[in-house]
Amino acid sequence: MPTALWRIKLTIMPLKPNKENDMATETVFSKIIRREAQADILYQDELVTAFRDIRPRAPVHILLVPNQLIPTVNDVEPKHEAALGRLFTVARKLAAEHGIADKGYRLIMNCNAHGGQEVYHIHLHLVGGRALGPMLSR
Ligand code: AMP
Repeated sequence: MPTALWRIKLTIMPLKPNKENDMATETVFSKIIRREAQADILYQDELVTAFRDIRPRAPVHILLVPNQLIPTVNDVEPKHEAALGRLFTVARKLAAEHGIADKGYRLIMNCNAHGGQEVYHIHLHLVGGRALGPMLSR
């Protein structure tokens, strides 16, 4: 194909959704992690950050995110295991600190449209402080 035509084809080729691009696009969560956007940060270390959800669905609603951008669970690789494991140890610590460990709580990670994912930087929801009812509505 002549170079000029090849260039035109590249230009009109539609962009895939961000979450499928090799270079994942940052969300507001990256800005929160870098403290460029406001959030109520409860915990941060070299692997993960935890902050209060801006629209809490329960008395305790905390988001735990890996500092490195991973758009969805479909993008998880073995190299992410340390950060993803850390999400759980920090969730356990925050649940205890918020007094919800004994009665219990729910950890949720949504993936893509059917999972109800809104922000394409994976995050674990730590939700508790009241009885949460059945896991899924019918
Ligand atoms: P999900 O539907 O699993 O992607 O959840 C995204 C969550 O991020 C929702 O519960 C939102 O309320 C929350 N959220 C979105 N933007 C912010 C923000 N700037 N600070 C804190 N939480 C946020």
